[in-house]
Amino acid sequence: MHADELKQVHAELRDRLFHAGLLIPSGVDGLYGRNATFEAVVRAVDEQACLLGVDEQPEVVEFPPFLPRATFDRIGYLQTFPQLAGTVFSFTGGDREHAALVRQLEAGEEYADALSQTEITLVPACCYPVYPAATGALPLGGRVFELKTYCFRHEPSVDPMRMLAFRQREHVKLGTPDQVQEWRARWFERVPKLFSELGIDVTTEVANDAFFGRAGRFMASAQLEQELKFEFRIPVYGEEHPTACASLNYHQAHFGELFDIRGDDGAEAHSSCVGFGLERCAVALFARHGTDIESWPRAVRSRLWP
Ligand SMILES: [Zn+2]
Repeated sequence: MHADELKQVHAELRDRLFHAGLLIPSGVDGLYGRNATFEAVVRAVDEQACLLGVDEQPEVVEFPPFLPRATFDRIGYLQTFPQLAGTVFSFTGGDREHAALVRQLEAGEEYADALSQTEITLVPACCYPVYPAATGALPLGGRVFELKTYCFRHEPSVDPMRMLAFRQREHVKLGTPDQVQEWRARWFERVPKLFSELGIDVTTEVANDAFFGRAGRFMASAQLEQELKFEFRIPVYGEEHPTACASLNYHQAHFGELFDIRGDDGAEAHSSCVGFGLERCAVALFARHGTDIESWPRAVRSRLWP
């Protein structure tokens, strides 16, 4: 499919979801409301994704969908993904500056220069808040976290599989290289099994993140070569154009070094995370089984709502 053909197909699926009331348009591509049926599917997928890791007895934690800017900068997000970033600005001036801002607004002018950057950014990946919270020595066997949050990535698109604001459910393992690799091997099996039980074809592919620019191309090829990222892809728009609905990432000692986390061997901890894009999973289910959940196959319904 050519790019404009593909865009048409994306828009068709989105319109189908709008028409069924599952997604609620906002006027901005990628920013939608969800109705109760859509949320019921998100919740069900989420619960099943959590159950997959229940035997690890994860520490369940909750973070707001914002990061301290200091953490965001330490992770180097603007070095690697500037095109996806969402930094928060607010107004810090006095009456004079405010009057100028109001004049700009009334004239319909750009007003970014009247605002100042705050100490927070939007969270681009669910697991980022975990690492600074885990600084120090890990207990024997490492730690496992389970968390969910809204993430923001600035990639406006008519494709309902690619939203600006979406939820990720993640499980994160911190430990020695052996502990982390064992954990990763278990998820490698679990994720495709769940999708196939939901009646969805899935392929597991070695992948790379969308690193920016020329330097990013080197990072992407190293990531591919070392098989650090796997995506579980669903052919919502055909076999040629599958979309990742979950991914399994091995960060080696990246976060262990950045945030001084040490394994029970005393060395810098390794980490791995598995993340489910909950809206993507829901959209994939509606695309596969139709917009009326009452008519979904019995096996799928009983897998989601046991
Ligand atoms: Zn993660």
